[in-house]
Amino acid sequence: MKEKIFLSSPHMSDEGYEMEYIKEAFDTNWIAPLGENVNKFESEFAEKVGSKSAAALSSGTAAIHMALKAAGVGEGDIVFCQSLTFSASANPILYQNATPVFIDSDEETWNMCPRALEEAFEKYPNVKAVIIVHLYGLSANMDEIVELCKKHSVVLIEDAAESLGSKYKGQQTGTFGDYGIFSFNGNKIITTSGGGMLVSNKIEKVEKVKFWSTQSRDQAKHYEHSEIGYNYRLSNVLAGIGRGQLRVLEDRVKKKTEIYEYYKDHLKNIEGIGFMPENDWDEPNYWLSAITLEGKIRPLDVIEALEKENIEARPLWKPMHLQPIFEQYDYVGGNVAETLFKNGICLPSDTKMMKKEIEKVVKAIKNY
Ligand SMILES: *Cc1c(COP(=O)(O)O)cnc(C)c1O
Repeated sequence: MKEKIFLSSPHMSDEGYEMEYIKEAFDTNWIAPLGENVNKFESEFAEKVGSKSAAALSSGTAAIHMALKAAGVGEGDIVFCQSLTFSASANPILYQNATPVFIDSDEETWNMCPRALEEAFEKYPNVKAVIIVHLYGLSANMDEIVELCKKHSVVLIEDAAESLGSKYKGQQTGTFGDYGIFSFNGNKIITTSGGGMLVSNKIEKVEKVKFWSTQSRDQAKHYEHSEIGYNYRLSNVLAGIGRGQLRVLEDRVKKKTEIYEYYKDHLKNIEGIGFMPENDWDEPNYWLSAITLEGKIRPLDVIEALEKENIEARPLWKPMHLQPIFEQYDYVGGNVAETLFKNGICLPSDTKMMKKEIEKVVKAIKNY
């Protein structure tokens, strides 16, 4: 059996940083609930991305849920959400009994199209919040999106689950909006096996998120609750993994960039193959390298051919407005997201890949 080549799998530091922090938690028996690793992971993370405060949570999905709650989104409210994304961007809108309206992407960024957003504002002037995504580590068009959200006094939530380490005009993604969320799921650029982070400059709101996430326990000797609670905090052991992983983030970005550049150098001369958009403002983390195919070659056939070589590849995210679960909700835009879904492929971008494995992927595509 040939070694499988993965899209993106967990990669612990060579130095063993994660084990040092986990050991601290074990030595003090303080593996749970909270503790030093959680506090330090939050402060180190906030400093790394350049935000005033952070809350370590059990997942990126939980972080989006808490961001919506902090934004005051509730029953019947309208929330705009980028359509081309993973379903976890949109599900928490329904947890809050709010109504999603999906927005198309543009070709320049693959992320939310500012013109479609403007059109949506005209149609739904009472919208409560906007969720944009930085897919595959590519930044959305932040200048225009931030300006539009300010103009309409609407809360902006950045789903930066895939873009930790990416910069837009030198500033970390996830720090432009009112709230930014990150994921440490097993396939993300750094991982705690499962986990997430919410960042914001609104310190009191982040404190409130920590309160809600630990079952909303009011100040009292007995258990007193005046608000609905959630069990959403990250454990002290997993926060230890996160602290270790954070120390190798730059190495991971560097390696993912090299992988992308290798694909680009070796595939760019093939007719019909397109690459992710490149913008002056953008310093992506290249979480996943993606290509687009034009003409007769069908992405699914290429993905199957790679599978036979034990190489994992996948289509881009299927847009939310095309998902059965979200069918009944409105959509604003054209067919950019849909076309990207039909033509795109995510290629293996695993930071543990050796040169010869990246070569093997390129060869398999060329042979096909
Ligand atoms: C992974 C991901 C999430 C969800 O993060 P989890 O930690 O898995 O809950 C949300 N949005 C996007 C775009 C993602 O890729």
